[in-house]
Amino acid sequence: MNQTEAATREYSLDPDDWQAMRALGHRMVDDMMNYLERVRERAVWKPIPERVKTQFRQPLPIDPQGAEQAYQDFLHFVLPHPMGNIHPRFWGWVIGTGTPLGMLAEMLAAGLNPNTGGADHVANHVEVQVLNWCKEMLNYPSEASGLLVSGCSMANLVGLAVARNTKAEFDLRRLGLRASPSRMTLYGSRETHSSIHKAVELLGLGSDALREIPVNGDFQIDVSALKTSISKDRAAGFLPFCLIGNAGTVNTGAIDDLNRLADICDQERLWFHVDGAFGALAALSPQLSPLLEGMERADSLAFDMHKWMYMPYEVGCVLVREKEAHRQTFSLTPDYLSHAERGLAGGKIWFSDYGVQLSRGFRALKAWMSIKEHGIQKYGSLIQQNVDQARYLARLIEASSELQLLAPAPLNIVCFRFAHDSLGEEALNELNKELLMQLHESGVAAPSYTTIDGKYALRVAITNHRSRREDFNILVKEVIDLGEKLVSSQGTTVK
Ligand SMILES: *Cc1c(COP(=O)(O)O)cnc(C)c1O
Repeated sequence: MNQTEAATREYSLDPDDWQAMRALGHRMVDDMMNYLERVRERAVWKPIPERVKTQFRQPLPIDPQGAEQAYQDFLHFVLPHPMGNIHPRFWGWVIGTGTPLGMLAEMLAAGLNPNTGGADHVANHVEVQVLNWCKEMLNYPSEASGLLVSGCSMANLVGLAVARNTKAEFDLRRLGLRASPSRMTLYGSRETHSSIHKAVELLGLGSDALREIPVNGDFQIDVSALKTSISKDRAAGFLPFCLIGNAGTVNTGAIDDLNRLADICDQERLWFHVDGAFGALAALSPQLSPLLEGMERADSLAFDMHKWMYMPYEVGCVLVREKEAHRQTFSLTPDYLSHAERGLAGGKIWFSDYGVQLSRGFRALKAWMSIKEHGIQKYGSLIQQNVDQARYLARLIEASSELQLLAPAPLNIVCFRFAHDSLGEEALNELNKELLMQLHESGVAAPSYTTIDGKYALRVAITNHRSRREDFNILVKEVIDLGEKLVSSQGTTVK
């Protein structure tokens, strides 16, 4: 190449050799299918060796290493060290499993690579279809608006932003909260998820504005304490504006009495926001759906499809009963984004008018394809299966003299611990903490933890379509074995 040739050469990021790229793609699909098919045979989780960590402290690549090298590095350094949530014995936090078709759909979405902020193209119609299916499956009004988002944290933020702007008694968008004549307050049980706290802070309401209401023995919001708190605030000159109903709390899976809460919202003119991150999906099971009665009365409803619909990260959803309130919270259209009558900049669907993001990915595709692949009834059966597994585990715990159930398990979350007569509360907390770390390090199973009334609990949250009953037998046996070993190694068996 001479100098003028070099100066005029134009580049792109497409492969020089499409055939080689195609072959690489086929190998990736084969490797990942093998990996997923045999996930049960591997450890749930392993600590990352130091030699692997150093791979992620390399200098910025200046010259090309090539697609093949990038893939080899993925195979050697990334693939063998997963979080573990694709494994049948992962039950930590509330984390979904993903599916093979979900993985492929992500590839197709990235191949098309549309920006679903707006404009007239088919990806937006796919999202509208998915949103309509969401309304239908949760019995939510068909005229409602909605948005697919990164997850329930974002769904809660969007829902509460609409609540705040709609219920403010002044032009909040223009004047900001400092113009509020009275402090705006909102209500939720003390079991309310941290993402609601985060949203409240981000919305400038201040964390004190969220009144944390006590719960009853089933970890549901205490309705009389709630009413007292609202009237006290009114008497003190605050502006109560929103009530959060929990459809499946993160600690124990408790579902508030949503119809009662909707009645209170009607009486008190409050916005009713439901955080149904995973619990909302229990509505897909005919046996469980009565637990969620009243959810359809929410002004805004937030839930995830990457938890209890097992779709790959990320995809959550928010539905808002009043479309116009939703749009008025987020629509902001400078000239360079103005919508046209016709052509590519036409079309009626501009999702950027309904949320924080302008540029948005095609997360609707995996949802659309997954729901088509399985049909909604299958999701209901799997959700019911997970709840039945939680009940099975709770029975194993209750039948065991070494284990103790620490909270009711109404849904898919079971909190328990290893217990021993010789140990006081503090020693039991220490022992169960160590037990959980050893359990993770053994690679056998991965529950997470929480604290229930001061007691350190192993917490099993089942949003896993790969789990089988035998997996819970394995868990129980391993917890008892580890617990007994810990007790004897501490020499605390003296009664
Ligand atoms: C997981 C969860 C959230 C947050 O959802 P993300 O998808 O993690 O953003 C909110 N509320 C509850 C009850 C949850 O379990």
